[in-house]
Amino acid sequence: MFNSLSDRLTSTFKNLRGRGRLSEADIDATVREIRRALLDADVAVPVVRQFTAAVRERALGAEVSGALNPAQQVVKIVNAELVEILGGQTRSLQLAKTPPTVIMLAGLQGAGKTTLAGKLALALKEQGHTPLLVAADLQRPNAVTQLSVVAERAGVPVFAPHPGNTSDADAETIIGDPVGVSRDGVAEARAKQHDVVIVDTAGRLGVDQVLMQQAADIRAAITPDEVLFVIDAMIGQDAVTTANAFAEGVDFTGVVLSKLDGDARGGAALSVAKVTGKPIMFASTGEKLTEFEVFHPDRMASRILD
Ligand code: GDP
Repeated sequence: MFNSLSDRLTSTFKNLRGRGRLSEADIDATVREIRRALLDADVAVPVVRQFTAAVRERALGAEVSGALNPAQQVVKIVNAELVEILGGQTRSLQLAKTPPTVIMLAGLQGAGKTTLAGKLALALKEQGHTPLLVAADLQRPNAVTQLSVVAERAGVPVFAPHPGNTSDADAETIIGDPVGVSRDGVAEARAKQHDVVIVDTAGRLGVDQVLMQQAADIRAAITPDEVLFVIDAMIGQDAVTTANAFAEGVDFTGVVLSKLDGDARGGAALSVAKVTGKPIMFASTGEKLTEFEVFHPDRMASRILD
């Protein structure tokens, strides 16, 4: 995902090797190169601006003495700022004091929500939890079937308004109320003593008012402990607009970056946490249910600067 950005930053740092104290002009030239590398990686302009201003300020104020040479010092500063824009600390899932923990998934169609539902369920199951998946995406005819397939692969039960293992033609007859299904799904989890319930909601190809209202209504009905906004890391500059629309419309608690295995430029990953002020909690890195990891800002920064 970050190969090109990594290469650009590495070659910028290489130019500083073997140098003595850096002048203000050296620092400005370096910061300019970092700015170009970030913009070319599709990082949102305001994030680039904040990032480069912070790097410049810290580089100018950095102590010359010490074990690090100027090049290493700049790497250290860039690393610290990368960790910062990626959200700082690792943020783990907030479990409810009284089960079930209710997790709602939101995002555009195709973002990777259904896949993520299966991944999260599998990971939680492996940690000893007893998740229930709830199919509240009644927008697409085969979404319920798709979630049922994912649930089966993860080995967890699914609550759906219709048996999910029927043909798509049958599934098309689903009519239902996603808010009601979500509420019933959470009630089912409580009744059957599932300690986590994951509610998959509908997405659209673009942000629209009906979708937002539906997601907001579901949120109001089930008062989730976590609302995870799933975003395709390949969508580039659109990531910021989409994330802001969901932040305003649904008010999520955390971000999941999906398709981080892709070879896009990665700007979404580097912009979303900073722009929305919400932590990136998980990364989805493939189509298989095991291709999923907790997102660690520090490890991601090291990977970029490797
Ligand atoms: P939804 O519409 O938000 O529920 O999205 P889906 O979960 O159906 O995912 C849309 C497509 O992206 C499917 O073909 C998934 O297999 C694929 N997908 C989901 N997550 C990932 C990922 O992390 N990496 C890759 N390469 N593909 C993914």
